[in-house]
Amino acid sequence: MPEARDPWERLLEKVEEDENGCWLYQGALNESGYGRFAYHGIHGYGTDYAHRAAFHLANGWLPEGYEQTIDHLCRVHRCVNPDHLEVVSPKEQMARSPFFGLRTTCIRGHALTEDNVYLYHGHRRCRSCWREEKRETYQVNRDEMLARKRAAYWSNPEPKREYQRQYNAAKRKPRG
Ligand SMILES: [Zn+2]
Ligand SMILES: [Zn+2]
Repeated sequence: MPEARDPWERLLEKVEEDENGCWLYQGALNESGYGRFAYHGIHGYGTDYAHRAAFHLANGWLPEGYEQTIDHLCRVHRCVNPDHLEVVSPKEQMARSPFFGLRTTCIRGHALTEDNVYLYHGHRRCRSCWREEKRETYQVNRDEMLARKRAAYWSNPEPKREYQRQYNAAKRKPRG
């Protein structure tokens, strides 16, 4: 029996886009943070992962045996943006590209060439993103560290001021 309303439209109503382009699912989530969505799928009406539903509704049905292997390139479990989803090939086919459903760029637009991809628990990840994230983390840690140092200084600046006074006085003394 066909649904009264287009499931794609129903899905989009439950989505809020964030600054990374992730479509954050606002409906029910399971305990792992994946969205749950009820619609008329290939096995009849039922509840499925929202991201899997999004992939199917956007790209058509996957070949038998690949329904379980949709991966988030953005690693955001509740994201249902079809551009952030791809089909993961079984491990033995990982080396072989191109493979049905594999994306050629990551969500930040880096080319997913063989040397820019590493495997994480059998899923493809972008090396450039990993590098960028590491840089961002480093920057955050560095800013935090400097803020802590500044706070520590101003919580008790007097000993350092005294040291500074002695240092300046010593510098001003004529030598010899
Ligand atoms: Zn996403
Ligand atoms: Zn990337």
